[in-house]
Amino acid sequence: MAYKYIDNYREQGGRKQLVELLRKKGIADEQVLAAIGKVPRHYFFDETFWNQAYKDIAFPIGEGQTISQPYTVAYQTELLHIRKGDTVLEIGTGCGYQTCILLELGAKVYTIERQEKLYIRTKQVLPHIGYKANFFCGDGSKGMPKYAPFNKIIVTAGAPFVPEDMLQQLAVGGILVIPVGDEQSQKMVTILKVSDTDYEKVVLDTFRFVPLVGDRAW
Ligand code: SAM
Repeated sequence: MAYKYIDNYREQGGRKQLVELLRKKGIADEQVLAAIGKVPRHYFFDETFWNQAYKDIAFPIGEGQTISQPYTVAYQTELLHIRKGDTVLEIGTGCGYQTCILLELGAKVYTIERQEKLYIRTKQVLPHIGYKANFFCGDGSKGMPKYAPFNKIIVTAGAPFVPEDMLQQLAVGGILVIPVGDEQSQKMVTILKVSDTDYEKVVLDTFRFVPLVGDRAW
């Protein structure tokens, strides 16, 4: 396994160019950009496709799923306003790239994936490349009540609506970032929990995610 995880000048240069591209596209949070500049995205690709790893594109990771486009990862992460020590729930672990970005920002991450093969693979790979998270396999559309409340919740698959369970599992002052729409396109939605009963919702740009599948989803 170890032979695969080599961070050459070519890949390091690719990351620098990617960071500059994301800056030009409007990502302004320097800590988010620094995290993108640090996490070796090529580690999540088969070596044959390393030349694709620092393009601003989504890419297949198996099981019909994708590693999200770097711009999307940066955009969602920026909206979360992660502070060191935040407890974050990530719904849709996938290959774990977004998880690593959250960890680089100092979050304590609980991440759940419904596809067992991806869950097993990612749970093995992340510690191997130096990232420690709490991994779970199952339907995250109901959140994870056992570990709530969370300071931040990020959903990395497209939902048909905002599941009530997730709002309940947010701490007061917490933020949920979730793409909501139909199966073709979704609007990025952020919800700030102002008090136990009050929320501030903002609807932002359009994206296209793989569907959130589950009890409180598609
Ligand atoms: N953040 C990931 C990354 O960096 O690679 C990309 C995630 S991919 C776009 C979305 C993931 O959400 C897929 O792996 C999919 O299997 C997962 N997913 C879909 N519905 C889910 C659910 N109800 N609970 C947990 N994971 C789910």
